[in-house]
Amino acid sequence: MLISEYYSQNIPRMSCEVFPPKAFDKLEDAKTVVDDLAEIKPAYISVTYGAAGKTPQFTRELSQHVQSRGIPALSHLTCINSSISHVDQVLDDLEAAGVKNVLALRGDIPEGCTFPEEDHFQYANELIAAIKKRGGFCVGAACYPEGHPEAPNRDTDLDNLRRKQDAGADFFTTQMFFDNNILYQFLYRAMCKGITLPISAGIMPVVRAKQIKRTISMCGTSLPPRFASIIDRFGNDDASMEKAGIAYATEQIIDLIANGVNHIHLYTMNRPEVARAIYRNLEGIIK
Ligand code: FAD
Repeated sequence: MLISEYYSQNIPRMSCEVFPPKAFDKLEDAKTVVDDLAEIKPAYISVTYGAAGKTPQFTRELSQHVQSRGIPALSHLTCINSSISHVDQVLDDLEAAGVKNVLALRGDIPEGCTFPEEDHFQYANELIAAIKKRGGFCVGAACYPEGHPEAPNRDTDLDNLRRKQDAGADFFTTQMFFDNNILYQFLYRAMCKGITLPISAGIMPVVRAKQIKRTISMCGTSLPPRFASIIDRFGNDDASMEKAGIAYATEQIIDLIANGVNHIHLYTMNRPEVARAIYRNLEGIIK
């Protein structure tokens, strides 16, 4: 099923993200995570792509496993570390595996690295255009409510987001955010730039204090004071932090849905029990 069909039905829905292992011997564990998530019947499950782009086969295999559970898979694909012909091969393999949905990304540039202009996509909009030209895939792309860390300012970043829409993207998924007002402001500014595609709100339930410090420093997401207090108070007590993190994410989602944001994407960090707890809290609100 093409994920764009979900977006055309504007009713509250939730999807989940899993990440594949770095080594083959952990693939079965990742499949078990998918099996557990499949029980809560998310709209779709996205499968990330290893940062260096070296393990596309794990993303593909896990995506196939998602689909074997009757759930559409969204395979992430980054292009900066690969030649155009390699990206084409990955798409051929996804097509052969029956995967029809791709999240087209540039990927992070490793520090100090430059990539040749020849035979390389430089930005996600180029990858999106190439996939759309090839045909057969529903294509999602990333967006950043607080601006991408490399962008000189948010306005320029939105101009670049518009390029992804113009290249043929079907929907966007946001970077995580912990303050819904940041998302509401972003949606307004995106609308002013003529961005009309559906935007799924990326929510990360923070259940470990260590996890959040590392993640925030990587992606430039800000911590609102209310959430910072939760981490200060419960960060050293795993059980309490888990409860508070699930409650905070649940409240964030209820506020989003109450304000008309119907598509929620849960960054599960391969913790199906956390996703299950949030789904339970939202029973009746989310289909
Ligand atoms: P782009 O859209 O190419 O943007 C990168 C930067 O370049 C931005 O600052 C933008 O403003 C600017 N820019 C864009 N287009 C142009 C242009 N034409 N000319 C000039 N400047 C331009 N990483 C992984 O390695 N694996 C994953 O599975 C993965 N999944 C992700 C899922 C989501 C929902 C998100 C939000 C991020 C994900 N990432 C993943 C991280 C992502 O790869 C990084 O954030 C990366 O630095 C940017 O990728 P992008 O596709 O947004 O790039």
